[in-house]
Amino acid sequence: MILFLKPEASQKDVDELIERLSWMGLTCHPSGEKGAYTIAVVQGADSSVDLSEFEMLPMVAKVTEFKAAYKLASREFHPNPSTLDIKGVKIGGGHFQVMAGPCSVESAEQIDDCAKVLADEGVKILRGGAFKPRTSPYSFQGLGEKGLQILKEAAEKYNLITISEVMDGDQIDLMADYIDILQVGARNMQNFTLLKKLGECPCPVFLKRGLSATYKDLLMSAEYILDRGNPNVILCERGIRTFETYSRNTLDLNAVPILHQLSHLPVVVDPSHGTGIRSLVAPMARAGMAAGADGLMLEIHKTPEKAASDKDQTIDFPTFRSIMKSLRIIEKALS
Ligand code: PEP
Ligand code: MN
Repeated sequence: MILFLKPEASQKDVDELIERLSWMGLTCHPSGEKGAYTIAVVQGADSSVDLSEFEMLPMVAKVTEFKAAYKLASREFHPNPSTLDIKGVKIGGGHFQVMAGPCSVESAEQIDDCAKVLADEGVKILRGGAFKPRTSPYSFQGLGEKGLQILKEAAEKYNLITISEVMDGDQIDLMADYIDILQVGARNMQNFTLLKKLGECPCPVFLKRGLSATYKDLLMSAEYILDRGNPNVILCERGIRTFETYSRNTLDLNAVPILHQLSHLPVVVDPSHGTGIRSLVAPMARAGMAAGADGLMLEIHKTPEKAASDKDQTIDFPTFRSIMKSLRIIEKALS
């Protein structure tokens, strides 16, 4: 259930209420700001609980049941969009960010080349996989810690922040030493052990939609992270499996307005994995921004044909620069 507090309630009232509710064995999460505080009770109270009893608590104006199964991710609990601030880089709630870089980190030179282009285009987030979830065990599996080091060095040199995929709970501490945003890949979206561990650390999490996950599945996975106390979650639409086999995946742009209606969390579109085809990345990147996404993830490489992974969907630097140019025009048109 959600407790809506009276407009005059102070932070002290919120703290006192939470203490009281916790003492009753209920698990609570506060939200909102002065004048509109809310407290979500997510565990402990079942549907047989009489809500009117909670309405009698001090400073409580109204109590309602959650309509959605995802509680902390929902707009009911958090009516305004969330803005994440990652080392001064803001995303969500009107702040748009591009994340770009190769599918896999291959060498320091390769990452330096990408980071230079990002800095020149005013892009703040450098991506690159160091631990790669490959369909085949015989494909390149990534450089591991060396790859993380390379990303960190380039980020420091060009004043960027980084995102890279975490595949296992045991990698979290190591990755957090080097990387600013931990990506959960599509294949791990329902790895609940990993999600729970990520919920216990403060690092921002970039949660990619599973290959055949519904919006509800994605939001329930986000809920695992939020429920453990980490509010820094970004959702990513990266295409889903459909009957259409021409493109690698079907980029579901319905996801952007739908997830925005259901949730306060930022939504990023990945047209690289969403299409799997280089020539489709620019049009779908433009469409992603036009649909209202809070950001884009793009795979770029100086020589895409030579990329160690996902070369068919990787774009070269001139294409990346031309996408950035059109995004600036679309951004203006949308404002
Ligand atoms: C990636 O970002 O390189 C990646 C493996 O993505 P996904 O999990 O969406 O396939
Ligand atoms: Mn990739």
